[in-house]
Amino acid sequence: MDIIKINDNSDKLYYIGGIVRDKLLGVRSLDVDITYVGNAIDYCSKFGEVIQENPDFGTVRVNVGGHAVDFASTRAEVYAKKGHLPVVTKIGCSLKEDVMRRDFTVNALAMNISTGEIVDYVGGQEDLKNKLLRVLHDESFIDDPTRIIRALKFRVRFGFELEEHTRHLQEYYLADINYDMSYKRVKKELIETFNLNSQRAFEIFVNEGMYRLVSPENFELPKVNIEQLIKKYPVNNVWLVYIGLLPDLSRLEFTKEERKIIEDFRAIGDLKNDFEIYKAFDGLAAESILLYGISKELRVVLRYFDVLSHIKISITGEDLKHLDIEPSPEYQKIFDCVLKAKLENPEMTFDDEIKLAKNVKK
Ligand code: ATP
Ligand code: MG
Repeated sequence: MDIIKINDNSDKLYYIGGIVRDKLLGVRSLDVDITYVGNAIDYCSKFGEVIQENPDFGTVRVNVGGHAVDFASTRAEVYAKKGHLPVVTKIGCSLKEDVMRRDFTVNALAMNISTGEIVDYVGGQEDLKNKLLRVLHDESFIDDPTRIIRALKFRVRFGFELEEHTRHLQEYYLADINYDMSYKRVKKELIETFNLNSQRAFEIFVNEGMYRLVSPENFELPKVNIEQLIKKYPVNNVWLVYIGLLPDLSRLEFTKEERKIIEDFRAIGDLKNDFEIYKAFDGLAAESILLYGISKELRVVLRYFDVLSHIKISITGEDLKHLDIEPSPEYQKIFDCVLKAKLENPEMTFDDEIKLAKNVKK
């Protein structure tokens, strides 16, 4: 997203966080964050029609020349309950206080909207140059462990590395995790990270023990390159093909669709022949099938996607009716017989299928 032009001479409006980082890196931003030093709801309503406001957080969304722009008030927060959402203690604090609640120095830069001046209280520019992710204080991961996953996301997206002390703090946290945390936020970060479809992200996630945030039991990196697999067989829920492998997912809240993907994958038993493979995978989400391939037998999954899934029987219930076969559970038996034969001989024609159906009937 490009930086939106806002005419303001107050000297109190700042682009802040990721957008400033992205501007200095010369990459496009996913979203725009603007902060007003003071109460944004009072001040920023003049830029256009107010679409939405949230006085508890001091945020307001305004229509600026056809763009919905979010303005935040500078705010201070405390983590009253570690690992959970912070509590706002002050709206309209100083820019410095606002910056100090953020995750990493490179995400704590501000840029004055009217002058373009960069305000850097924490050495973010230097870290950006050195591609380092550094937390702002030693309690950072304890306050909000989702920052560990956020760091992973930025490591993969931008090639950043953890600064040494920050790496120690991460290790320290992961060695003794406080599981009383907001998993909704953890899930959001996991989705954003693993939807990048990066094998490297998963390797770091496993090797550095980040998976323990959700699934405490030991977990080993599967041998399959998941990134390559997904490139060849694309799916909607990329992240789930990674995270679904973890043995304990009880902490994450899944949607109905996500839960079905995991349950279907876990319910697949041993598959001994083409017919069993076909019957087990037909109608399942590709995510479930890939999960099975990664954790159990890849060969079987490749055979299904590359060969078996393209084979379909042609006869229908209507055709059986025309053969004077009464609709009954018998139909399924006939279809299965025809399918078994067709999996062995995909060249079977419609007439071959009818012939076989008649024979089964007898
Ligand atoms: P992206 O390009 O993914 O949007 P971003 O850095 O802009 O990266 P956002 O999630 O949009 O990330 O958050 C905007 C800013 O809010 C961040 O740059 C950071 O300053 C702050 N922030 C976001 N999440 C946290 C967090 N969990 N803890 C502290 N600060 C955070
Ligand atoms: Mg952002």
